[in-house]
Amino acid sequence: MKCYICSEKGVERDAIAVCIVCGMGVCREHLIREEMSVAEIFDWGIKREEIVYPKSCPRILCPYCYEALVVQKARK
Ligand SMILES: [Zn+2]
Ligand SMILES: [Zn+2]
Repeated sequence: MKCYICSEKGVERDAIAVCIVCGMGVCREHLIREEMSVAEIFDWGIKREEIVYPKSCPRILCPYCYEALVVQKARK
């Protein structure tokens, strides 16, 4: 697969990752790696407890989706 963003600029470059949201291929220069913490919420009836695991999952986003998600987060 080729990098989608590079190809928009007329450059052919191999993609090394895929955006998990839209599925476009991105090269090293265009990928955005975000660490996503893994958490589980336990509902004990009287209180809810959130357990966050020590290791996080990497997730790969393209710049477009990253921007969209960051804007969404900022609005909340
Ligand atoms: Zn690229
Ligand atoms: Zn994307």
